[in-house]
Formats: sequence, C-alpha cells, structure tokens
Amino acid sequence: MSHTSPAETSPHILEREDVARMVNAIFDDFLFAPPHDDITRIIRMTSGTTGREPMMVLRELQDGSANQVAWFTDVERPLVCFSQLQLRSIYVSYFRVDRTKQGSPILAIDSADLTDDIAPLLADLAPDQLMGFPHMALRLADYFSESAVSTVRALRMTGEPLDESLHAMLAKRFPAATIRSQYIMAEIASISAMTCAYLPVRRFHPADHVRIEIFEPDETGAGDLLVSTVIHQRVPVSRYRVGDVARLVDGVCRCGEKTTFELLGRRGYDFVKIAGALLVRDDFDRVAGLCADLFDDYRAEVREVEQNGTLCGILSLRIYRDDGRHPAGLEDEVAARYSRELFLSGTQTLDEFVTKGLFMPIAVSVVTEPFPSKHKNVKLSFRSE
Ligand SMILES: [Zn+2]
Repeated sequence: MSHTSPAETSPHILEREDVARMVNAIFDDFLFAPPHDDITRIIRMTSGTTGREPMMVLRELQDGSANQVAWFTDVERPLVCFSQLQLRSIYVSYFRVDRTKQGSPILAIDSADLTDDIAPLLADLAPDQLMGFPHMALRLADYFSESAVSTVRALRMTGEPLDESLHAMLAKRFPAATIRSQYIMAEIASISAMTCAYLPVRRFHPADHVRIEIFEPDETGAGDLLVSTVIHQRVPVSRYRVGDVARLVDGVCRCGEKTTFELLGRRGYDFVKIAGALLVRDDFDRVAGLCADLFDDYRAEVREVEQNGTLCGILSLRIYRDDGRHPAGLEDEVAARYSRELFLSGTQTLDEFVTKGLFMPIAVSVVTEPFPSKHKNVKLSFRSE
C-alpha cells in the first residue's frame, strides 16, 4: 500500500527524483563539454539518504549572485562555521569572488576547531559577522571573550531551521548582532531571501525569481511547499515539491513585499499526512507534556491500511518510563489522553477521526529500554508497506 494518492503523483509536480535527474544532467553536460570562459564554478555533492542517490550540483558564481552577495554586504571580517568542508569552501568562494573584499581576512572553521585554541584567533580576527549553522554558532559563543563578542554585528544562519528557542539563545549570546536566516536547498539554491527585519522567525519572503505555492492546503492553510525557479541560469524547475510543509501568510509586509510564507517543518518528520489527517510532531510533544506523570519519552509511528475501499490510519505509540515502573492501566490512560487531546486536523481530535472510521484506536505499548539517542531524535515517523 502506497501513501501516495493519485493527486499527489500529478505530472505537474516535480519530485526529488525529477530534480535530481535535471541537476545531474547539467553536471554531465559540463563534464562532457567544459565551457571556455572565466566564470567561477562550484561543484557540490548533496548528501544522499537511504534510497536517494546524491546529486552533483554545478553552480556558477554569478548565478543568483544577488542572493549570495547579500551574505557579505557591509562585512569586513567574516567567520564561517559549517561542519561540511564543501559548505565552508562555498562561502569562502562567495567572499573571495567579490573583488571589493580581496585582501580582507576570512576564517572558516568546523566543529573540530571548537577548542580553547580558537579563543586567541577569535580575539585577533574580531569577526563582524558569523555565518553558518545556528547550533554551531551557539557552541562557538563559549569561546568569545566579552570584547570579541561585542564586535559581532550580524549572524547569518542557514542549513537548519532557526526556531524561536534557538533564535532567543543566539540573541542572548550575541547581544550586539542582528540575526537573520535564509532558507536554501542545495539542489536549487535560495528559496527565500535573507529574512526580512519585519518578520518573526520561520517566516520568509521568496528569493528573486522564486515563485512559491502551497499544494492542497488543509483548513489551517498548511500544505506541501512547491517551488518554481530557474537553476543554472536557464533551466526552469516548475512546482518542485521540496519536502517541507508551509503556509502562506496574508497581507503585505511592512517592507512592501506581497508574498510571505511560514515554514512549518519537514514532511515525514515534523508532519505526516495520511488518511486525510495531518499529524504534527509538535502536537505529539504537547500531549506528551500533558502525560508527564505517565511517561518520560515516546516514539510514535503511523501507517495506513486499506479498509473496505477507504484508507484508514494506524497510530502506535511506544512509551518509556525512567523509573522502570509499570502501573496497572498505564497503556489505557495514555491512549485515552492521546485520543482526547491529539489534534489530527486544525479542529478535530484523534477521537473524532476514530469515530468516523478514518483511524484505528491508538495502540500504546511500554518499552523497558530507553530509546537510542541520535543526533536528531525522530519521534514521529511514517512507515510505508
Ligand atoms: Zn518584509
């Protein structure tokens, strides 16, 4: 049983495999017939995940340069902190290709550089801007002296979503800095412009030449983000389902920009859409908070089965208690709270979906071993069969 409904396989929507084919073909053309010009090019391999082969992305540095140059406007001494060598190289190249910056220092570091030895370098460079992953910038804060931190006027973050709590922590550690971020996807480059000073975190205006739409929004306006843009200066990418869930924000921004969207999370991790329901990890966490007296950690898994010609969602929850106890009726109490409290749409609870036959009653089981701790704990997952 596939989780893809016919509407979602519409030929008018590009999936990752389609864009991978286009991006890899551009790279193949480049290898077959390298152009003779003086354009600086960057080749970047995107990380492949299980079942997805990596893409070879070729980018011309003039390509979409307005968005990249914005990273270095009014910057004299940038510090680049990414854990991947290729990202560090790319941002150093962006800086170096700008003729007005030639002769200016730039420091690029990875997480292995975060030792006490970095402190004198930071004091010496006195960076005016940090660019990179928000989590790495946060760790780097420990190595700044008070006087060095006061010279940091700007944080330019990308690579992972900047949520409210991360934003607040960065603002506390770098009090003199304005914090902005950009929503970028390696295979098609910038999706958003650098965040607008009038917008809260998670909200963006589209980058130049990018058109966005929300596919099949639910009653709250949330749906798959489709991006239309031009890659490699001339190849149109139309209605690419990038894998994130977003919603459009009404009204014209105070900066004058008409289009604003709010990024809600990653499809399949922060959101799972099945059997007419949109399951949201944040809401699972919220209900787990209401169950703090019952368990300490959980993992939820959803799948769907066909029943009498319609799709029915199945939700199973595994819970773990630090104290190892297993009071009588624990599973039933957790099941009752989740059924009552968990919303599967803007207004309807799991109970209501079960009553309508769209979902099976939640199955709760207790595990005796703690869940393995990973870099990013996947608490909500979708299982296809
Ligand atoms: Zn704006």
